Amino acid sequence: MNAETPADLPPLPAAFSALLDALIPPDARPRVEASYTSPKAVVFRVNPLRAREPATVLASLAPLQPEAVTGADGVYRLPATDRATLTHHPLCAEGSLYIQGVASMAAVWALDPQPGEAVLDLAAAPGGKTALIAARMGNQGRLAAVEPVRARFFRLKANLQRLGVRNAQLYLKDGAQVGRLVPGRFDRVLLDAPCSSQAQFTRLDPASWAHWSPRKVRASAVLQARLIRSAADALKPGGVLVYSTCSLSPEEDECVLDALLRERDDLTPESLPWPVDLPSLPGLTAWRGQPLHPGLALARRVLPTEWTDAFFLCRLRKRT
Ligand code: SAM
Repeated sequence: MNAETPADLPPLPAAFSALLDALIPPDARPRVEASYTSPKAVVFRVNPLRAREPATVLASLAPLQPEAVTGADGVYRLPATDRATLTHHPLCAEGSLYIQGVASMAAVWALDPQPGEAVLDLAAAPGGKTALIAARMGNQGRLAAVEPVRARFFRLKANLQRLGVRNAQLYLKDGAQVGRLVPGRFDRVLLDAPCSSQAQFTRLDPASWAHWSPRKVRASAVLQARLIRSAADALKPGGVLVYSTCSLSPEEDECVLDALLRERDDLTPESLPWPVDLPSLPGLTAWRGQPLHPGLALARRVLPTEWTDAFFLCRLRKRT
């Protein structure tokens, strides 16, 4: 028997397969299914805060031959077979390169932070998005990064140091308290929320879903509801809030946003800057027979494929 054959691999959890049935159109399904049966391509970015030209960095990677990701400056892709070599490469250790999924970068592209602004990253560890925000700000302005889990906080701190981030202040804190402590303080807020984590699922390793369950989805949604209110409170009038998760479950995505939008009328969904052709679906405007805020059609659900991870993101603007 050939253990590499998809039919021989353990099936995805039944509740997750049912979710895919409900969400993914039939023409997209084979590509999504295939993404769970083989290792993914590895995507990385050249870190401008370490002040090396992409061309110099790429030359140092030889014999690896990265392919540029169209539409994203300084972002490259390598086959899955190069992952271990890249992960252990000295350029990663010195912070010149950072391995980061392109959907994860898209959350920062959606936030569009500018030099000199006040920016809040409300759920920051291990800091991949914080570091990209700092790079986009050119290390200028104020970047607050919040993480309540001590071990993850110290990992965040070490990562930001390695990646040359100099404008971040780190807070070991529950993000749900931040909006009350500093209301209306930030030009932009990223809430890359703790979630039931479906992005890492692979049928090559059933341990990848060992901690996932529909119950975890419900528990995550409760925490997300607290955090998004705090994020909205911390935002200045006229400011931008980006909400993202690595969960495909509408209960953690559109439903969290829908509850917020029903409660307050000072936030409006906006279209997302979308520089890279990522396989994605528009956000849902109804789920399980219940209508959701029509503006959620502007959100995006990135599909898991051979080179992208499952991801959800939505951008909101606060009224001036
Ligand atoms: N943005 C990070 C990155 O790109 O590297 C990943 C963030 S991860 C999806 C979610 C983070 O939220 C985890 O580090 C988790 O420990 C943290 N978290 C959990 N509860 C939180 C809370 N109450 N307030 C803020 N962050 C929380």
